[in-house]
Amino acid sequence: MNWTNREIIKNDDKKMNDDTTKKPINFLSFLISYKCTNECKHCALLASPNQDGAQMEFGDLKRYLEDITSNYIVQEVGFFGGEPLLNFEILVSFIEEVKKYNIPKIGLPTNGYWGKNESTAKIYAIKLKEAGLNSIGFSADAFHQEFIPLDDVKKAIKACHDAGIEIIYLVSQNLGGSGAKNIYNEKTKEITDNLSNEFEYCQLITSELQVKGRAANQLTEYFSKVTIPSDKCLIFKIPMFMIDPNGWVFHQLCHGITIGNAKKKSLSDIISEFSYRKHPIIGKVVARGGPQNLLEMAIEKGYKPLNGYADKCHVCYSARNFLRPYYPNILEPSNLCL
Ligand code: SF4
Repeated sequence: MNWTNREIIKNDDKKMNDDTTKKPINFLSFLISYKCTNECKHCALLASPNQDGAQMEFGDLKRYLEDITSNYIVQEVGFFGGEPLLNFEILVSFIEEVKKYNIPKIGLPTNGYWGKNESTAKIYAIKLKEAGLNSIGFSADAFHQEFIPLDDVKKAIKACHDAGIEIIYLVSQNLGGSGAKNIYNEKTKEITDNLSNEFEYCQLITSELQVKGRAANQLTEYFSKVTIPSDKCLIFKIPMFMIDPNGWVFHQLCHGITIGNAKKKSLSDIISEFSYRKHPIIGKVVARGGPQNLLEMAIEKGYKPLNGYADKCHVCYSARNFLRPYYPNILEPSNLCL
């Protein structure tokens, strides 16, 4: 049966999402589009104004939700991009749809570009709140502020607070390990201090940048290179999934290694059949030796290793880029520009 035409049983009981016999999914996210206002140097998803305009369709979102909530308890939904507010009315319709399933947390990250015009920011924030959004994260660091004036972000934050959005995060990334001194970390600290002082109600989340996506092409000079890190990657033990506009399903914390395509097969079936140990790429990174196993696979096929790598994700990402032609439908999407 063609999954996209499959009839899904609808009833209010299924929509309640309260069956304790179902397995949990900690986080389910919808990557609405790869388009962004920015082309940040560190972006793991390669979002940019130049990416193609493919956008998640409402019918797909509805089908994913009906399917997944019939079989799993979803604890949190996030909307990602690119910049998720670029198609604002569609985003609002998506949030309203998720809200129908009584999923307790609905959130999104944004770069806050829409704070430029104060009255638009107010309207956007009120509509997001009314639709059911209860948390919003503002990306605030040296990379984003190369494109977005901090004053615009401030107006967007204030609008969200005034609209009553419960949780507001400031989200930033450090470059080159904790305490590393470089121009990006200095600038990021200045930005987050400024915002934290002005908006005490915001929670600051800072993480270490992993070297994949655009960071692997533009930022490796800021890392002290290690020969070849050999630790395994443990993220796949946590049930968190992301679906992109073309239906590719990834682990939420790492884009680029698919576990199936939800336009071709039920999302629930993809998730329930996923075995991280048996997956041809993920199996290698979770095994002893970690991403170094991918490096060995790539070298066997002719890849020339670099002199050093910034971290294990850098090894993994470089090897996967080389291996992509050998693993169609697994190392996807293959159509993003760098
Ligand atoms: S090691 Fe590889 S699979 Fe794990 S998070 Fe890094 S890039 Fe992703």
